[in-house]
Amino acid sequence: MKFESLNLIAPILKAVKAEGYEKPTPIQAQAIPAVLERRDLLGCAQTGTGKTAAFAIPILQILEEDREKGFKQRGIKTLILTPTRELAIQIGESVEAYGKYMQVRHAVIFGGVSQHGQVQALKRGVDILIATPGRLLDLMNQGFIDLRNIRQFVLDEADRMLDMGFVHDVKKVLAKLPSKRQSLFFSATMPDTIVKLADSILTNPVKVEV
Ligand code: AMP
Repeated sequence: MKFESLNLIAPILKAVKAEGYEKPTPIQAQAIPAVLERRDLLGCAQTGTGKTAAFAIPILQILEEDREKGFKQRGIKTLILTPTRELAIQIGESVEAYGKYMQVRHAVIFGGVSQHGQVQALKRGVDILIATPGRLLDLMNQGFIDLRNIRQFVLDEADRMLDMGFVHDVKKVLAKLPSKRQSLFFSATMPDTIVKLADSILTNPVKVEV
């Protein structure tokens, strides 16, 4: 399997080559085609498997496809929810790397730091928002974030999210998302509580396990 056989657009292929990646990892080979077909996805995968690119690459491509179709929608189109500041920053760096030959704007928001810079970034305009739950709700409550135009939602490290006590926060966020959307759900483990949460978020998902 090569990246060339995944039907990726030129700016993404170029970025992947620039990262020095030679071929897709197993989760990328399975997830990228499913996400590009706009299917929901249930991914059972740990960090280190290449799961960030497995969702970031097709999401960037879909944003580009939608832009070419003339969707001139303003506002945040993709929300990626992740449990920790470190993961949020890493995902931001990946989106930056894979999207570096495109014009997609992203912002990363997390708690424990001043909100000022994050609010400024939001005001400049964002296509992809990467967030931890607490700061996201905080900025939503202050009116800085509107999730009504979200078309893609990613829940990353769902099991860790629940372990850290974020279940209510995640549900509050979910309640604000449009029901017509594409959702991708990743977890390293799949206990009953996670399966139930996934069922409540996903519609007829493609299941990928690595
Ligand atoms: P992740 O599982 O998303 O945290 O990724 C783990 C590491 O694998 C990151 O440092 C990525 O840059 C790297 N990586 C992701 N996809 C590939 C690939 N197809 N080939 C080589 N390295 C990769």
